[in-house]
Amino acid sequence: MGRLQRILIPFLGLVLAFCFYSARENFQPEMLKGKRVIVTGASTGIGEQMAYHLARMGAHVLVTARTEAKLQKVVERCRELGAGSARLVSGSMEDMAFAKRVVKAAEAELGGLDMLILNHVGKSYFSYFDGDVEHVQKLLDINFLSYVTMTVSALPMLKQSGGSIVVVSSMAGKVGFPFTVPYSATKFALDGFFSSLRQEFSIQNVNVSITLCILSFIDTESAVRAAADVVLMSPAPKEECALEIIKGGALRQREVYYKYALTKIPLLLRDWAAELLDYLVRQHYQVERPPAA
Ligand code: NAP
Repeated sequence: MGRLQRILIPFLGLVLAFCFYSARENFQPEMLKGKRVIVTGASTGIGEQMAYHLARMGAHVLVTARTEAKLQKVVERCRELGAGSARLVSGSMEDMAFAKRVVKAAEAELGGLDMLILNHVGKSYFSYFDGDVEHVQKLLDINFLSYVTMTVSALPMLKQSGGSIVVVSSMAGKVGFPFTVPYSATKFALDGFFSSLRQEFSIQNVNVSITLCILSFIDTESAVRAAADVVLMSPAPKEECALEIIKGGALRQREVYYKYALTKIPLLLRDWAAELLDYLVRQHYQVERPPAA
């Protein structure tokens, strides 16, 4: 008992000190006032909601996606909500020249950049892997390579402002999930790239934060349409999710977990009981009624 206490008390002390240190700063919406922010994939879903939160906080927002008509409505709503300014650039992230052009637009029209929120995601299927290698390649371009391209283009501005990169990922980028093989691969790639880059920033004293966001099932139209019949879980609200992502970026957190209980807690099992975690993941799928191929 004495020995246990000698180990347990310092350990608990360390945990408490860590929690205190981690929670040292509280989020204030004013943190975003006047900040220049790019939000990709902002014509709908979580990206659209992030644009509205940023607008309410008084940020200068530049939104991008392919569908100009939807972006136009998002821009109008952002202006109504009190954005410092709101503008759009439409095009496809399949094209790396377009990815660079979005960053150039921020430079030309906003005069710099404080936060780059990488959120867009290409359309994929929700079904067994069909062996289509070209689709994997295309998805890697949209979901991964364009994120890298935009980061490289934006870095000079972000270094100047001491800014932030926010990367929207998924539980499917930390753990193997069925029916999302190509998507999952692109999200794991983001973790590898951005977590390694964060290490180099730390070694080189680069004052640009990188926040990787690990999301559970969220109630966006596309996700609910694809997965609601198969995933045995209620989707979490996109509005709250969007706010948690912005908070994490503003506080320069290493990672954001939303919903916490459905992401951070299961991940504690990943390295110690991987097979148990795989089993638990499968329990949340109606595999006897898989989606059509
Ligand atoms: P969503 O509603 O499907 O929105 C995707 C956005 O990406 C749209 O604005 C779409 O607009 C844009 N987009 C699609 N293809 C594009 C392309 N080729 N070039 C440029 N933009 C493109 O997605 P969401 O559910 O909000 O997800 C947002 C992020 O959260 C994604 O990174 C996703 O992986 C992550 N996430 C979502 C969930 C979930 O359950 N919803 C769970 C985990 C992680 P256009 O069609 O107009 O281009």
